[in-house]
Amino acid sequence: MKTFSFLDRKKNIQQIKNDFFDLAIIGGGINGAGVARNAASRGMKVALVEAEDFAFGTSSRSSKLIHGGIRYLENLDFHLVFEALSERKKLFELAPHLVHPLRFVLPIYKNSRVGMFKMGLGMWLYDALSLFQAPKLHERWGKKETLFHVPMLNNNDLCGSYVYSDAYMDDDRLVIETLRSANELGACCTNYVKVISSEMKEGRLVGLNLKDQINNELFTLKAHHFISTAGPWSDQLAQTLLKKWQSRLRPSKGIHITLKKERLTLPQAVVMAADKDKRIVFAIPRHEMVIIGTTDTDYSEDPHLVRSEIDDINYLLKITDEYFPGAKLQANDILMSYAGIRPLVKDGSATEGTTSREHLIISDSRNLTWVAGGKYTTYRKMAEDSVKATLKFFPKEKQSLFKKSETLNPLNPLASKESLLRAHLLKNKWKNETHLSQEIVENLLEQHGLEAVSLIEKCSKTKQNLSIWEIEAKFAIENTMCLNLLDFFLRRTPLILSQADHGLSIIDPISQLFTQELCWSENERLEQIQKVKDYINNELAWKKSLKTN
Ligand code: FAD
Repeated sequence: MKTFSFLDRKKNIQQIKNDFFDLAIIGGGINGAGVARNAASRGMKVALVEAEDFAFGTSSRSSKLIHGGIRYLENLDFHLVFEALSERKKLFELAPHLVHPLRFVLPIYKNSRVGMFKMGLGMWLYDALSLFQAPKLHERWGKKETLFHVPMLNNNDLCGSYVYSDAYMDDDRLVIETLRSANELGACCTNYVKVISSEMKEGRLVGLNLKDQINNELFTLKAHHFISTAGPWSDQLAQTLLKKWQSRLRPSKGIHITLKKERLTLPQAVVMAADKDKRIVFAIPRHEMVIIGTTDTDYSEDPHLVRSEIDDINYLLKITDEYFPGAKLQANDILMSYAGIRPLVKDGSATEGTTSREHLIISDSRNLTWVAGGKYTTYRKMAEDSVKATLKFFPKEKQSLFKKSETLNPLNPLASKESLLRAHLLKNKWKNETHLSQEIVENLLEQHGLEAVSLIEKCSKTKQNLSIWEIEAKFAIENTMCLNLLDFFLRRTPLILSQADHGLSIIDPISQLFTQELCWSENERLEQIQKVKDYINNELAWKKSLKTN
């Protein structure tokens, strides 16, 4: 794969200043990344600018599930579920290192709003809508079997459970792998470049005025057509660009909490019903931690300010306690919380939970395609629809030069299913050839497939005694345009979310490595460390109300 580093960022900014693009994309979350990959695969000349780090917005704050959305069956959103299940199947092939099958247990109690029979029908429908292509079809477990598999579950009035398949993933890394694939196809992408205003000519958008958030430099991006994939910032951005804009979003806040795996031992994910609100909350075991979430409440403030509040935390703790009373979970067991905003599209629904997850594409005659809504799971399809919608803004002769999109290949050929298999077979190869521990070698191969080979070889040549996180940091700087410590600790690795100390015990060596690679001064290094601490303190500010309560 081509490099995608801070040096490439400099080159890309230079290119943005000099060139004229077919398509300019605003926003580097999963939808912007998907659009960049799709458009570049057609041979379009593409630029993408992201105001913060890639995946800074909703795309690093999801439940990290690739799922059909079993609960949307109740809203009769069959089209959405069918589409999402079909995309789920494709994502297993596209990014097998980041999307992993997971079984979900849905317990049914005597007083559950949906009983055994109706839930059984839902399960058949879910499997049918996946064209029976789920990693494993659903099963029905009796009470005994349910408790055998999930012994910590509340057994009072338990009738049994249904078990079905979906998947968990690394949302932030999937954005970056999608962008790396777009980069490979020639897209010119950069983070920390914010769109601050527009250049209009005869009522049409012709350029974007940009600010480099690192050195405050101002410059302009010129393109034939523009597309907004700004997630919860979409209305705000359209108002900045076009002035007259009728808001379309109904933003909804969702938070998650993370726990040590040992604190809630779960072999499968558990679906917990908040019957009163007709909502469900997941308890999701992953490689590194358990995630519990999410909430769903209307949100009208600046998306930058979103954070978990004590009421959100109590909501999640209460429902978890109902399902796992023996665990006696307390707020102090929580490792970390995180909060995001769903960029839902207004559809006149009574509640946030029933607002549709379908996406909306608006072709504005002022030369802007505006995309919002949808789910992470369906990003590839949403990107296909969005790029198709931009084509009518190009003259016929130009359209005929664009190819059909090609987005069904693995995002990273070195981490395709076949490459992962080959990487697995290489696990023992280095036993006598590297000073790195077997655990590190195995971890790197699992995380990066065959891309780990050059990492291991480089480390072995220099005989440097690096920890796995230092190796990951080098990789992140060279291949993921990682510019800051916070971006590394939060969006390139799960350190902040999954470690009791949020990774602070290793921040010194990691910051030294960044200092060397990115030529920071000592002051910059200390500022970067402080930013990580500030982030953690701000997100965990709800802990202060524990002491005062
Ligand atoms: P974002 O990821 O928010 O990206 C928009 C980007 O635009 C941001 O990075 C922002 O910095 C940038 N931007 C804004 N203004 C500017 C500007 N002026 N200049 C340049 N850049 C700008 N979906 C699933 O399929 N599975 C799940 O498990 C799931 N769980 C969820 C849980 C929660 C709590 C939430 C909130 C959502 C969840 N979703 C899930 C939905 C999914 O996460 C979102 O639909 C998706 O991430 C939206 O991506 P996006 O690219 O549209 O927005």
